[in-house]
Amino acid sequence: MSRILIVDDSHAIRALLGDKLRKAGYEVVEVADGIEGAQKALEVAPDVVITDFWMPGISGLQLCRLLRAEKATAHTPVVLLTATEDRKTRFWARNAGAAAFVNKTQLGDIGKVVEQVMAEGAFMNFDEVDVQGLQLHGAVQERLSQLLDHLLFDSVVAGQVRQLAGNVAEFDDFFRALTEVASEIMTYRWFGLSLTEERKCLIHTHPNIQEEAVLEAREAFALPADVSIELVTGEQPAATKTHRTITQPVMHSFAPIGAVALGTDRKHSSAEDDRFVRIVARELPVPLELMRAMKRATTLASTDGLTGLMNRRAFIEQMEVERARAERSGFSTALLLLDIDHFKKVNDTMGHAAGDAILKGVAAVLKRFGRKSDYVARWGGEEFIVALTQTPVAGSRIAGERLRRAIEAAVHEVPEGGTHQVTASIGLAVATGTWKLDAVVAKADEALYVAKSRGRNRVELSDAGNQS
Ligand code: GH3
Ligand code: MG
Ligand code: MG
Repeated sequence: MSRILIVDDSHAIRALLGDKLRKAGYEVVEVADGIEGAQKALEVAPDVVITDFWMPGISGLQLCRLLRAEKATAHTPVVLLTATEDRKTRFWARNAGAAAFVNKTQLGDIGKVVEQVMAEGAFMNFDEVDVQGLQLHGAVQERLSQLLDHLLFDSVVAGQVRQLAGNVAEFDDFFRALTEVASEIMTYRWFGLSLTEERKCLIHTHPNIQEEAVLEAREAFALPADVSIELVTGEQPAATKTHRTITQPVMHSFAPIGAVALGTDRKHSSAEDDRFVRIVARELPVPLELMRAMKRATTLASTDGLTGLMNRRAFIEQMEVERARAERSGFSTALLLLDIDHFKKVNDTMGHAAGDAILKGVAAVLKRFGRKSDYVARWGGEEFIVALTQTPVAGSRIAGERLRRAIEAAVHEVPEGGTHQVTASIGLAVATGTWKLDAVVAKADEALYVAKSRGRNRVELSDAGNQS
């Protein structure tokens, strides 16, 4: 027989409901206030709790919230009895985790509502974090205040994480800030964040235990062998003793986008560790997706869509930084302006798609060509630009010639089938002392014109010694 607990301070209502439900075949237990209601609920494990919204002592809302937080009653449906049916009441009833609410003027429907909530189970619209990891004990008042403490902990941690999100754009900085919050709240062995798409994993630990921590984190995140773990230092955590590992996925649109993990310490471990990890994992999707979106937008704005090289705007921006560095260090910078020969003919005879494929192919040669410190960009159309840092005239001639030959040698597959090869002319200008990008590019362009007029597929150096 299904058991129903009625909690209401009004004798009349208890009698009315009790009578109705007993007649409908339920076993009914009645109590007159919320505290007693909570005790009884834990004692008799009812199938449904019907409680008044407003009662002296603890309210029906608080009772509902408390029952949700107790392991034994976490899934017991609660029906709230209300005097009004305004939006606010509805809102709080839902947020406290009530399964239904019934207007006191319509108690005739109670039998149907009880059947319905028993069939549907408890309404769980809030995070499971509220139920898991809680260990309430003591009298009901005490349990309520523990619950309040827990909720406060949750909202403070969530608030801290949210605050970080607004201030950082880089994953590393974000994680570092997160570790500051984490190590303020807890003593742990290591704390880590792994990002699936970025194939990135960061952990914060003490240098003395870093090797073990890396091994533990690798296992906790089930990291692929080719993803390395980056160690973050900052506020130093303690070198603590192994206890256990907590891992929680970070979910976005029902898919994991990463994970948070914590290696807890034998001495300091508590249920709060679990809550912390859960809350952080729950709060992370928004900042992580935001950082991703920002990164994507920056990449899009600075990348040439066809070739994946830097675009002209990004190159000019980068060169501003590079110029300042070069001027400080006194090294010269070589600029290679490159234009594919007779490219119009390629388009005209083989089609635009073939032209695009060849542009991509030339870009690929350019990507392989440079050193890490060099800059390669699509200048526009079938023109590319390369900046070689710390490169004097002699070196730049050799580099230009090597590039010319590499382009000449490259064989490009074209979409319609078959292959094609192209050549390019290169104009070279070397900047030393103080210089302006515009002026150096103009010099390289003049040299390029000379290369074209002298028969193409060749490298020419701008005649002026100092390209300022
Ligand atoms: P030159 O040897 O004197 O450089 O001759 P050219 O034909 O390469 O020079 P021109 O500047 O007359 O022609 C450049 C051609 O490059 C014209 C244009 O159709 C083509 N082009 C520019 N951008 C693209 C692109 O994104 N895709 C394709 N397929 N063609 C492009
Ligand atoms: Mg051109
Ligand atoms: Mg051309």
